[in-house]
Amino acid sequence: MNEFELIERYFRRAPHNADVRIGIGDDGAVIAPAPGMEYVVTVDMLVEGRHFAAGADAERLGHKTLAVNLSDLAAMGALPRFALLAGALPAPDGAWIGAFMRGFDALAGQYDVELIGGDTTRGPRNLCVTAIGELPAGTALARAGANPGDTIYVSGALGDAALALAVTLLMVSASDAVLPALRRRLDAPEPRVALGVALRGIASSAIDLSDGLTGDLGHILAASRVGATLDLDAIPCRADLRAKLAGGERDLALACLLAGGDDYELAFTAPGAARAAIDKLAAPLGVALTRVGSIREGRPRLRVVDAQGRALDVATGFDHFA
Ligand code: ADP
Ligand code: MG
Repeated sequence: MNEFELIERYFRRAPHNADVRIGIGDDGAVIAPAPGMEYVVTVDMLVEGRHFAAGADAERLGHKTLAVNLSDLAAMGALPRFALLAGALPAPDGAWIGAFMRGFDALAGQYDVELIGGDTTRGPRNLCVTAIGELPAGTALARAGANPGDTIYVSGALGDAALALAVTLLMVSASDAVLPALRRRLDAPEPRVALGVALRGIASSAIDLSDGLTGDLGHILAASRVGATLDLDAIPCRADLRAKLAGGERDLALACLLAGGDDYELAFTAPGAARAAIDKLAAPLGVALTRVGSIREGRPRLRVVDAQGRALDVATGFDHFA
């Protein structure tokens, strides 16, 4: 199959969305913004050997390539609308592309995201999605809005993806009972789209957790010019990871919880007055929203304290993945 046959067979589909005036098949796509709305645009690339292993399951990779981009849109409070897909592939392998697109399309369908273009070329395997989301003008959640006194929240549970990676790298073992769930968190993350949209007008800042809680929270602190204190015991995680924190695998557990990437949960800040509104979101969205610390005045430094109020040295001692 040549490039054009691949496009016809695997990527081209009839536009289903009235806002797509021209979709796949032209030199560019044309999309019409609704009055009073703004577009949020983001791009994320997944490179073989860096973000996924050679031989990774194509269908899950299709899901993840789109999911990491929808997660960025969620962190901005945007509703995902359109995507472009650029792929370098070592060979025109129809079975591989078909499986990749099954994963991609399943997630796109779930959020009504329309593929409106892309590029296909031969090269070392590399998949790159540009995602476009929409929100009412002026309502985007930015990293720069955190204020002293704000509470820090995280969604879901942290550390599963890093734990799955640590198991894969044979740094730690996990029981057969939990391994599939761990792997799913690493290979097929669920972007927190509904949460991001619901946090418009409530959260003062937000970020998605792709590189680990301390590092990603650090971006909010730097952008907002504030400091923060995190309560280690409050950080939500699975019980077996919590148990490791108290035992001989404490360093690894700390690494998963604080520095482990790929969770694609949201971290966000909000003033104390928003507490009831946030608590009310959790049940209908089916996601835990946990208070894990607070924003302080001062230099953009993060203190992580344990139950006794002792500060952890987060600069060293747990960063197994550096
Ligand atoms: P051009 O050479 O003008 O950039 P291409 O031949 O690369 O156009 O692509 C033809 C059409 O197919 C374009 O509309 C492009 O957006 C679309 N396309 C190419 N590759 C992909 C892909 N991987 N996913 C979605 N659309 C694609
Ligand atoms: Mg092209």
